[in-house]
Amino acid sequence: MALDELYQEVLLDHYKQPRNKGVLAEPDIRLELKNPFCGDEILLTLKMAEGRVAEAAFEGHGCVISQASASVMTEKIKGLRVEEVAAIADQFTHLVREGKYERPEGEEFDEIEAFAGVCEFPTRVKCAMLAWRTLLQGLKEHGGREHLHDHHAHGAEGETPNRG
Ligand code: ZN
Repeated sequence: MALDELYQEVLLDHYKQPRNKGVLAEPDIRLELKNPFCGDEILLTLKMAEGRVAEAAFEGHGCVISQASASVMTEKIKGLRVEEVAAIADQFTHLVREGKYERPEGEEFDEIEAFAGVCEFPTRVKCAMLAWRTLLQGLKEHGGREHLHDHHAHGAEGETPNRG
């Protein structure tokens, strides 16, 4: 299978069978962003625990790239610390803008790489980035709130098991 066919396959698979589709009850983070250039919409809900993304879900509609990007993203970020999420968001940004991705040593094909072709279509970069922009903005706002009310952060004792 040619590489761009593989990319296409991954995108369509996530578009047709989105992972983590829905809205979490009582989320710690809830944010909706739109991409007016294409009519894409993403509503992202996250549950946080001990500085990690415990659960992630999205609702939305729009083009294949925007929805597949959200689906891949929610799978990718579960269980990760906020700093790790930010690092992946950074990688993803480089990927869709410049087509560059440095696969960690010893790792197989990463579904994020399926968005490498986006860089050839500058108008679609916004579609691919929508879910990630929503994520980063949501985390940022949440971080700001935690700072103001940090008694919320001390609910649970001990480590939260890292699922998956
Ligand atoms: Zn779009």
